[in-house]
Amino acid sequence: MQLTPEIKQQLEAQKAQCIFCKLISGEMEAKKVFEDNVTIAMMDINPAIKGHTLFMLKEHYPIMPYIPADEFKHYFGLIPQLSKAIQKAMVRTGMNVFIANGGVAGQQSPHFLFHLLPRENGDGFLNFLFSGKVSTPGDKVKMLANNLPIMMQNHFGRNPASWHSGVGLRPNYLEDMPNVIYEDEQVLAIVPEKGVSEGHIVIFSKVEEKDIGKLSISDSSHLFYVASFAATAVFEGLGAQGTNIIVKSGVSDDNPEGKLLIHILPRMQGDGLEKLHWQPKQPSYDLDSVASKIKDKTWVIKYSEEKIVDEPVILEKADNEIDQAILALQRPNV
Ligand SMILES: [Zn+2]
Repeated sequence: MQLTPEIKQQLEAQKAQCIFCKLISGEMEAKKVFEDNVTIAMMDINPAIKGHTLFMLKEHYPIMPYIPADEFKHYFGLIPQLSKAIQKAMVRTGMNVFIANGGVAGQQSPHFLFHLLPRENGDGFLNFLFSGKVSTPGDKVKMLANNLPIMMQNHFGRNPASWHSGVGLRPNYLEDMPNVIYEDEQVLAIVPEKGVSEGHIVIFSKVEEKDIGKLSISDSSHLFYVASFAATAVFEGLGAQGTNIIVKSGVSDDNPEGKLLIHILPRMQGDGLEKLHWQPKQPSYDLDSVASKIKDKTWVIKYSEEKIVDEPVILEKADNEIDQAILALQRPNV
């Protein structure tokens, strides 16, 4: 998204007041657990759960669509490594990534950030325990199925070799999915038959069934690109006032099978989903010791310039193998 001079001016004014910019610059003291030249992770001083970490870009962007492509890749590409480090430090079986877009969705800071919440069974955090009750009307499903691929294409380009244009093969765990609204070699997005609200979208990785920590930098950034455009699609197309992006990975009470899922939830004032948000509270334990535990595991995290958009090499290889097999069958015996 191109920023107009007016928006840039507004951002400068916002930045001057931003607490997170002050925490990042060192003007205020942060409980840092990871930092590189582009991103920074710190403890939430009012944790919803032990190990609750905030991850943000050092540059001030109020909303996801303002983040330039190179920073987006870097930021969202590091989620698997950071999740893994936090889970290891806290010895947890699961992880949530929580993103709030808009005040109605619980966004509290004008500095875009997301929450990493390490999880396990019986941890008492039930905010993300939701069940599907609402069907999305067919015309809205169709609208999302039209818009999402166009948004991806507009971003990544129409050259099939330059990004994931095909649908590729579908792993066993994603067979028989209803209402598919987007699919490429790495990602499948659906509208569940019974969702939390109208326009609820669920996104799956086709390369990893359960553990976000196993995704590569490029797999992760690609997955979050789809999530970001899906959020924009419900925002623009369904008139939502905000959106939540909630990643579930590994086992916890609200994810008993431990699947890797990204929920996109459209939000409206008074929609009854306020229980997704938690109340700030003082931790009953020493935050510094939790921070140092996490810091012990994050030093290995590194962003490397992988080729983010892989050409569909695996598929071509698979096709070639099939061709070879057919040729072999047709070849006369000598
Ligand atoms: Zn800021």
